[in-house]
Amino acid sequence: MAGASLGAELAPHASILMLEAEDRPGYHATGRSAAFWEECYGGPEVVPLTLASGPYLRDHGFLRRRGAVYVGRGSDAGALDAFVERFRARGATIERIGREVLEAHIPGLRPAWTGGVWEPACSDIDVAGLHAHYLARFARAGGTLRTRGRVERLDRTGDGWVVAAAGAEFQAALLVNAAGAWADGIAALAGVPAVGISPLRRTVVQLRVAPSPPDDMPLVLDIEGGFYFRPENGRLWLSPQDETPSAPCDAAPEELAVAEAIDRLQQVVDWRVEAVERKWAGLRSFAPDRRPIYGFDPADPSLFWFAGQGGFGIQTAPAAARLGAQLLLGASRDGMTAGLDPELYSPARFRP
Ligand SMILES: Cc1cc2nc3c(=O)[nH]c(=O)nc-3n(C[C@H](O)[C@H](O)[C@H](O)COP(=O)(O)OP(=O)(O)OC[C@H]3O[C@@H](n4cnc5c(N)ncnc54)[C@H](O)[C@@H]3O)c2cc1C
Repeated sequence: MAGASLGAELAPHASILMLEAEDRPGYHATGRSAAFWEECYGGPEVVPLTLASGPYLRDHGFLRRRGAVYVGRGSDAGALDAFVERFRARGATIERIGREVLEAHIPGLRPAWTGGVWEPACSDIDVAGLHAHYLARFARAGGTLRTRGRVERLDRTGDGWVVAAAGAEFQAALLVNAAGAWADGIAALAGVPAVGISPLRRTVVQLRVAPSPPDDMPLVLDIEGGFYFRPENGRLWLSPQDETPSAPCDAAPEELAVAEAIDRLQQVVDWRVEAVERKWAGLRSFAPDRRPIYGFDPADPSLFWFAGQGGFGIQTAPAAARLGAQLLLGASRDGMTAGLDPELYSPARFRP
């Protein structure tokens, strides 16, 4: 998603080659997301990117409104209040709710869950549609995508780079590092210091439960970060919100995470789990401060970082890509990006 969205924004203005190691784009994190747009997800400094991306996603038909509730037990009352204060200050539309409203949204909710936060605008994202849209925009504007094009060597020349990939060599004036979990590896090939990207594995399971979750049930998230779940075509998508450190790889789900997810669900609702129909895992890749990294590396200004999209790289893609392209092209900001502070996301924060 990072490469496709930034490529689409750049291709009308420059000659762009997008190199993808796999035989198709979207095989890694992008193809494994839980597919929601949630205003508070990723922390207060990500909220401006999410909100700025909303109108583009909505206007192009990629969002379907669902709503979200954060739920808590009695002892979480303070955490729920603090959450509202923290994220409202950043522009999220959220309100504190009590048990009665929770019950109306979540059938079979166990009595321990007494309070919550309601976010009406939360939506499902058509991730495949958005990804295809950006790839099509990229191609229409003359961009070239080369799959099975793993970057193997990066050599500095007087005024740019020679990139060795899939048995061929390409000349480039600028290099954009949008390699997700592999971004520090690309920096190493370029002879640029790492920023300390941590790939963390996250598991999702698709369950058949009885009764079936109502189609209009909101996304339900634990205020303490122990789970989230939402309906998907009569089934339930559930995650234990695991964050297991991993080397960059083709991530696979582990039985323990699946069992933990189901155990946590059963503490929230009284539904019967009838079958685990699907399970998958992907890597969410974070910078040390969990903010994304967009910008030229001060150590080598011919390398541009577009990495660290963590768990919010789909919902922030439109504004992130527009901002990234503006920084790369030296263009001024527009209506979508005017409210963003690029300094927050600059790689300079990791350089002495
Ligand atoms: C389980 C899960 C749930 C998530 N849920 C959400 C959600 O609900 N909403 C949301 O907004 N985000 C969500 N995310 C996060 C989101 O999926 C990511 O932030 C986003 O997909 C990152 O996109 P990316 O392009 O940076 O990474 P990727 O999709 O991983 O792409 C990086 C690409 O770089 C390629 N590459 C690596 N090394 C090389 C090389 N040497 N040469 C050539 N190519 C190379 C890889 O093959 C890969 O295709 C979730 C993530 C996971 C794992």
